[in-house]
Parts: sequence; C-alpha cells; structure tokens
Amino acid sequence: MTKAQEVKKALKGHFNNLKCTNGRGTAWGWVELSFDLPKPKECYCAEQLTGYCLPCSKARDEARKKVYDLIKQAKIELYNYTADDGYNSQNDCMLIDINLISQKPEELTIIYKSGGYEVSKVIIEGYDCQLHKSTECGYMIQVPMGKNEEKKMFDELVYHNQAVYHADTAEKAISQVKEWIINYKKNI
Ligand SMILES: [Zn+2]
Repeated sequence: MTKAQEVKKALKGHFNNLKCTNGRGTAWGWVELSFDLPKPKECYCAEQLTGYCLPCSKARDEARKKVYDLIKQAKIELYNYTADDGYNSQNDCMLIDINLISQKPEELTIIYKSGGYEVSKVIIEGYDCQLHKSTECGYMIQVPMGKNEEKKMFDELVYHNQAVYHADTAEKAISQVKEWIINYKKNI
C-alpha cells in the first residue's frame, strides 16, 4: 500500500468527497488530499480582501486537526522533509486541499447545466447530496445511496417521503431534507 492508500483508508467515511493520491515523480512520497466541507453559515469571506474569514479558518483548522488525529490513530507515519526556513523545521509530506462548499442556494456550485436543468452540490447533515433544479418541476434533492443504516434512512426518504425532497425553492428543499434527517435519527 502507498502512503496515500493508507491515509485514504484511515480517513474513509470521515470526509465528503475524499480524494487521496500519491505524488508523482519528484513528489513521490507526498500525500495529496482533498475533501469538501460545508461552508460555515456565518462566513464573511466575501467582505474580506484576502484570505479566509474567522469561521472558515476555524472550520479548516478543525478539519486539518481531525485529519492528523485519524492518521495518528491509524499509526501512519508520513514522510517528512526539512524546510528551508532557517530553522530546518521538519514538515510532513502532505498537502491538504479543503473545498468549502456553500450551503446558500445562490452560491451553490453548479456541477451540471443544460437547458433549463441545473445540478449543484450540496452537503446536508454531512451527506453529499445534489440539488436538481428544473424549470418545469422546481427543486429536488437527490440523496446518496448510502450503506446499511444510512441506506435504510435514505430509502425511507426516497420511497415514502417524496414531498420532503421536492420544493418550490432551493432553501425549502434543503431545509426540509435536513430536518427530516435530524428527526429520523432522533427516532431510531
Ligand atoms: Zn468565510
């Protein structure tokens, strides 16, 4: 197993849209990691000239810490390199690319668009979902297939609660599904 495969195994199920690859060529030994994180509701990045706002920085730091905790728990030793910073500090050969995904409908990332049809990425209660928008049918949330308990929950939603994941606005569709998941988990 490469370092990247080991790391991927340790982080699996903890992050959305996790990608983990091994560096090539001279970057061999480097682990290149990327995943999605819901952008905090309080985000004010747009009001800043550069960098991330406080809530976003905090969310990113927490996610990075979680990555390192899980790697430590799995007893994986990353390769490291000596930085050319005058202090010869040791750094891990790992790049972490965190994509903050907005939950605000007007800022959703569109991943498919054709005619009057649009699909965007949306994370609801930690699950990778998609928001489908069509001029004829309004908004619809597509939930993942899931496994085991998750699959049971999403099957229950998809087959018996159609009204929950259809709505005339994106906000409504997202909040209905969110509420439904929270309630479902409370009752099991
Ligand atoms: Zn922000």
